[in-house]
Amino acid sequence: MGLSKTIWTNPTEFLRNQQPENPVLFFSPSALQAAARRFIDGFPGMVTYAVKSNPGEEVIENLAAAGVRGYDCASAFEIDLIRRLAPDAAIHYNNPVRARAEIQHAVEKGVKSYSVDSKSELAKLIELVPAQDTEISVRFKLPVAGAAYNFGAKFGATAELATELLATVAAAGFIPSLTFHPGTQCTDPAAWETYIRTAAEIARNAGVTIARLNVGGGFPSHRLTGVIPQLEATFALIDRVATEAFGDNRPLLVCEPGRALCGDAFTLAARVKALRDDTHVFLNDGVYGTLTELPLIGVIDRIEVLSPEGNRRKGEAQGRIVFGPTCDSVDRLPGEVMLPSDIAEGDYVIVQGMGAYSTVTNSRFNGFGDVAMATVLSLKV
Ligand SMILES: *Cc1c(COP(=O)(O)O)cnc(C)c1O
Repeated sequence: MGLSKTIWTNPTEFLRNQQPENPVLFFSPSALQAAARRFIDGFPGMVTYAVKSNPGEEVIENLAAAGVRGYDCASAFEIDLIRRLAPDAAIHYNNPVRARAEIQHAVEKGVKSYSVDSKSELAKLIELVPAQDTEISVRFKLPVAGAAYNFGAKFGATAELATELLATVAAAGFIPSLTFHPGTQCTDPAAWETYIRTAAEIARNAGVTIARLNVGGGFPSHRLTGVIPQLEATFALIDRVATEAFGDNRPLLVCEPGRALCGDAFTLAARVKALRDDTHVFLNDGVYGTLTELPLIGVIDRIEVLSPEGNRRKGEAQGRIVFGPTCDSVDRLPGEVMLPSDIAEGDYVIVQGMGAYSTVTNSRFNGFGDVAMATVLSLKV
């Protein structure tokens, strides 16, 4: 992925001038910084960034410049990336399962916050991590709906196990905290309420006053026309419920959004390679490229189509089957995608809200995936 040296006005200007054959992701630093400021101004606690959602150096640098002081890392690579780009930032190593070598690496890099969801992994942390000034956050899960898919399927202790783990963390001399993740693209704020009230119960049952409560990522980005994320309402709910549930023992709050910070800062332009017999659209990007997430969490409908000259196609919207470029039949966007009836070979399909889980999951399967990046002042086409 090559970084363009020039800053373009908007995607349209770039496409008209360059007519790229390969997919392009347009990055707006100002959109990213605005998202960061929205969280920093609105969230009632510390804002950290889930690096996995988009670990691009330009992303980390702009978030750091906007005032993000903490990063949720899941691997040695991500820890080293943050130490290099934001040396003074806090690192929260919130992948609850780690190899011993990974734990040792984190200790060497001065990581002071770890999450855990099992007895065996807690035993490893107690053995390998010095307790002094170090937080262990017990991650718990609940069977609550509201997110695009179930995050509890892999990580998170039951409330009962979390109670036991939290007591062990405190007894071992670590700073005891709790953490959860309501599930990605969680559009139902009520999910946070249930989790926060349960966190207070876990702390009470364990007889532990927790230092911090990390309310996860899961905050939605803007994927569907007319479904605009109401982040401030969710922040207000989190603030109110934390006070109600914990009273005088209210912990400091932390959030670790990924998608909600980086999602709306990138826009994809994928080119129409072919309209097969005037029916199926074949794009030069697909589910093995930057559109990996669509079959998992649904289509983004914030789509416009431009001619190669940069003129907007205005035909009536009609549903079409859209395939990616590889020879695998799985490489298809879910359902039918609404596209203007006058879409033609060589056009550009512009998809907004493509910053999260796109650059990182792009693969070179079948030799595709050569995605370029261009910096723009505005993402509006
Ligand atoms: C992936 C992840 C996040 C970010 O999730 P989003 O849905 O992108 O906000 C936050 N915390 C943890 C522990 C994660 O694994």
